[in-house]
Amino acid sequence: MKIAILGGGVAGVVAARVLARNGIEAHILERNDRLGGLHHSPTFNGVAYDIGTFVFQKRHQLIRLFPELESVLVPVPSQFVSLTNKGSIDAYPLSLRGYVSDNGFMNFSYALSNVLVSKALHFRKSNVPSFIKYYIGSDIYKRSGLRKYIERLYDIPDEEIDLEFARKRLELISRWGSIRKNLHRLAKRKPSPLTGAPYLGKTDFVRPKDGFTPMYAALQEAITKDGAKVFLGTQLKSIQKQEDRFEIESNLGSEHYDAVLSTIPITALYELLGLEQPTAFESRSLLSLFYKTRLSLSRDATVVHNFSQTGDWKRITVFSAYYGPHEGSDYFGCEITVDSNQDIDVGAYRARFEKHLDELGITNNLSFEGSALTRNAYPIYRRTTFDEIQKQKLFVEENGIRLVGRQGEFDYISSSDTALKASNIANELASRG
Ligand SMILES: Cc1cc2nc3c(=O)[nH]c(=O)nc-3n(C[C@H](O)[C@H](O)[C@H](O)COP(=O)(O)OP(=O)(O)OC[C@H]3O[C@@H](n4cnc5c(N)ncnc54)[C@H](O)[C@@H]3O)c2cc1C
Repeated sequence: MKIAILGGGVAGVVAARVLARNGIEAHILERNDRLGGLHHSPTFNGVAYDIGTFVFQKRHQLIRLFPELESVLVPVPSQFVSLTNKGSIDAYPLSLRGYVSDNGFMNFSYALSNVLVSKALHFRKSNVPSFIKYYIGSDIYKRSGLRKYIERLYDIPDEEIDLEFARKRLELISRWGSIRKNLHRLAKRKPSPLTGAPYLGKTDFVRPKDGFTPMYAALQEAITKDGAKVFLGTQLKSIQKQEDRFEIESNLGSEHYDAVLSTIPITALYELLGLEQPTAFESRSLLSLFYKTRLSLSRDATVVHNFSQTGDWKRITVFSAYYGPHEGSDYFGCEITVDSNQDIDVGAYRARFEKHLDELGITNNLSFEGSALTRNAYPIYRRTTFDEIQKQKLFVEENGIRLVGRQGEFDYISSSDTALKASNIANELASRG
């Protein structure tokens, strides 16, 4: 049995290992000249940055499936914090302690009574803002900057985001805002938002100091040993279904496969299948800006989320907090979700970001090192498009192509969930073999 895996990000690499270890001829067809997909590290002046924040928890499925990675990844403590509306640093996503300190006790008392009112008003949790208001009240939702953060993340107004799509991410809010769970945590003396405990992953892992390249070199070596084949620089031209098989045409020629597993964006797949482009698929790109500086944030903070009402940047990752300063300077990356249907004026985004940091007084001697634009980084589900997108995904699957991965499934899943799903589907295909 021979299976084509379109795309060599986490999903493709995991699928290749599972298939190859089950004696199946697995071919990864990857467009770029490297594996890794979203996991890549643009390098400027000898320093490797990532396009975003990539942290692997100890139980991450990629580490479980590739024990080889334990000697490659770097164990770190990671601490996520939020920049509050008032410019102070709070636990991520927010803590009551931080809220009181920023907004005063009077506003906090009002916010508490507002939580009770909101529970009555939003008990149906019918859309994204109403779901959040049910748990934390409309006052905290707005004043804490959470609303602004969500709109920055999805790049559309909160009431337009489909609730089913956002639900996985919103689980954090429901855990955070659950009175019962908080009392339970306090009783067990566990960290709780009530005490303002930050997210602190004592045993997280990050990629090696030199970037994702050595990590994916280790992965490529591992799957090649398993018997999988990796074809980098593959330009796919078409996919044709012929009874039970598929013919894939690319710059490498034409090849027949018994099954196809796709991790590439669905729009690209539609094109390869010769189908008319679906209108419902909408995605956003990620603009990453890279800097060297002397940050005056808490030295331990590795990731800072922008919960302030201003600035279009979403998150800062302080790489030097993981790997140590470079020539005496800290270095970090900042993420901004952008609509790539419009021209991206990097200079304008830079100017706004730098002005914002300057106003906040949290850096000095900022040195811009470079930028990267990642297309199709974030899928967008509007309330009106959810059903249509599900229908179109189903249509591709009915044509015999299995969808896996964040890009392939057009979903917002973590790399651990991505790896798990890819491994489950590969196992399912192998058992049919
Ligand atoms: C900014 C950001 C931060 C994240 N941080 C975390 C985190 O901290 N922890 C976590 O668990 N998850 C995180 N995630 C999610 C995680 O990174 C993704 O779920 C995962 O990397 C997706 O892997 P994938 O293989 O599905 O897709 P991708 O990594 O996008 O891989 C798809 C591959 O397909 C290739 N391809 C595309 N089109 C074609 C074509 N036409 N022909 C051939 N090949 C093609 C691409 O080149 C790419 O290599 C983050 C995501 C983003 C965007």
